[in-house]
Amino acid sequence: SLANERVAYFNGQIVPESQVLIPFRDRGFKYGDAVFDMTRTFGHRIFKLKEHVDRLYKSLAYLKIDPQMSSAEMMRISEEVLERNLHLIGKDEDYWVGQRISRGVGESFSGTQNSGPTVIVECLPLPLKNRAPLYRDGIDVIVPSVRRTPPDAMSPRAKTHNYINLILADLEARAQDAEAWAVLLDQDGNLCEGLGSNVFVVTEGRLLTPRSRFVLPGISRGHTIEAAEALGIPFAEADIDLYDAYTADEMFLTSTSLCICPVRSINGRTIGDGPRAGKVPGPVTKKLIEGYAKSVDFDFMAQYLRHLA
Ligand code: PMP
Repeated sequence: SLANERVAYFNGQIVPESQVLIPFRDRGFKYGDAVFDMTRTFGHRIFKLKEHVDRLYKSLAYLKIDPQMSSAEMMRISEEVLERNLHLIGKDEDYWVGQRISRGVGESFSGTQNSGPTVIVECLPLPLKNRAPLYRDGIDVIVPSVRRTPPDAMSPRAKTHNYINLILADLEARAQDAEAWAVLLDQDGNLCEGLGSNVFVVTEGRLLTPRSRFVLPGISRGHTIEAAEALGIPFAEADIDLYDAYTADEMFLTSTSLCICPVRSINGRTIGDGPRAGKVPGPVTKKLIEGYAKSVDFDFMAQYLRHLA
């Protein structure tokens, strides 16, 4: 029944999701001419909504899409959509809360806005059960042959609907191992990011992550760097090539949904010292996970692990 259906904001109204129907000439569908952002709730409260919406508005500015709405209004709508969907999840569960804006319906190629934008704000339950084993065992990373889109072709710092580059990488990685996560190299052979996550390594007690020019400025990436600074863990942005990755002591991915999640292996090579059974996460990753959890006042790892079968 409709009472059990999630609702979403769609061009000015909050409606059941089944009524969110996009015209087939929407430029988001035709060309990927759209941007989005995605935050999550911790204990049913949205995390860093302002930071996410600020990033959304930078992505809009990059593509010159006018959302015809202030960022304050976008934040208010995001809170309202969440509020209207909360009764559909349990106390232990949480939502992604996302905003999507396309340039709207257009008949020609030209990138002008001819209909007004398509604006959607939606909620989706976090995949806690599917991801729970990753916190117990760690993620297996594969580096595909496809390279990350270079910043001078299209900046990875904007969160656009154009995920083809990352999807190709994901297809390649999952063809080798259905459970694996892709992390791409840039044109120079340095680690970049994956489909929806930033990457970090720990070497000799130093925390390193790829330079900001080549990756999405992940909100979780930023929050992890803040947690490292608060804990006194030395940190730098760096060129991290496969030698660095294969010889790293620890590795982890960050994203809105993963927060911080340990990596077990890269290209079939175990990260760090020996079999990881019972050793994931490594000591620095563990400290960061604890620091992150404390700063958001929410034990995300425990939330995931509770969903183990
Ligand atoms: N890189 C890419 C390409 C992404 O899509 C995401 C997910 N938004 C991230 C990194 C991680 O960013 P965040 O921590 O803000 O979720």
